[in-house]
Amino acid sequence: MGKDEFLILYPVCKTVRGARRGMICDLQNLSYHLVPNSLIDIIDQLSITPVDQLYQETEGEEKPILAEYINFIISKRLGFVTASPELFPPLSDMFEYPSLVSNAIISIDEHSAHNYKLIFSELSELNCKGLELRFLNTPGNEELFNLLTLIQNTRIQSIDLIIKHTEFLTPDFFSKLTGQFRRLNYIQVHSAPMNEEIEIKDNYSFLRYTSKCILDHSFCGRINEKNFSPNMMLFTESIHFNNCLNKKISIDERGKIKNCPSMTNDFGQHGNVSLIKVINDKNFSALWGITKDQVEICQVCEFRYICIDCRAYRSTESITSKPLKCAYNPYLAQWETLN
Ligand code: SF4
Ligand code: SF4
Repeated sequence: MGKDEFLILYPVCKTVRGARRGMICDLQNLSYHLVPNSLIDIIDQLSITPVDQLYQETEGEEKPILAEYINFIISKRLGFVTASPELFPPLSDMFEYPSLVSNAIISIDEHSAHNYKLIFSELSELNCKGLELRFLNTPGNEELFNLLTLIQNTRIQSIDLIIKHTEFLTPDFFSKLTGQFRRLNYIQVHSAPMNEEIEIKDNYSFLRYTSKCILDHSFCGRINEKNFSPNMMLFTESIHFNNCLNKKISIDERGKIKNCPSMTNDFGQHGNVSLIKVINDKNFSALWGITKDQVEICQVCEFRYICIDCRAYRSTESITSKPLKCAYNPYLAQWETLN
């Protein structure tokens, strides 16, 4: 390396310090690397000190560690050497979304009496892009078809389906359904006789059968490594907003408008009050601003910007307490067993 060369991270690679260890999040390759916090200290030093100079200033047993860290950054393609680091400013952490609502959950059971036409037209007006249809029951073939047809002429771009298993819900059925309704993105069939994951490649959809029964909303809010999502949108949203509830609206099975179906308080009955009115209610959006940096324990967790928060199921009454269904202890960097 030349005398005045610096080793800097690619701007899409972000570091996060945790209580015991840290992380380098590669937001372009959608991956993350768990690293010692001391490696992040070195990255900070390398961004202002030429590599050769830092190497000369480092003494004793620290020297091979520095060499190992430099090798790690380069071999994992997280950083590069340049004589002009000023040409590679850090990527902005700003988060902007072009509408008041980004995603919605509509919960449905056999007694639901939703006015779907009105719901979808209001969501479309709000420029909502993502929709989860959460069936606690099994809808009839025609009901499902009619619902998906209604969504065709809206601005909703992506539909996730949670649906109770019955005989006709075969992979072949979903393959045809996703072919016809291209906005279907992810389908989870609960109460199924098998556990199986199937990628419907032709239609870019994903189908999952699970034997778990979804009788209510208590399945939601489980924190699992498998659900970590190292992408730019979640990372930046997590820095500024609550990454689950920000711009989310839901209608539960009884038509109550809520932040999410698991919440106990509601903001009125859909039909009597519009979604637009609720969205503009400051009390409704009050939870949107609770960031991971404000949540107890999460604030020192290295996963905090790639882990979806939960404000409905919390470890204590405090609105900023850790999600109840998380078994990770960032002080020990260990997954423990949930009580
Ligand atoms: S707040 Fe919790 S229960 Fe509600 S949608 Fe988010 S993860 Fe699920
Ligand atoms: S401690 Fe918080 S940020 Fe860390 S994994 Fe658990 S819920 Fe996610």
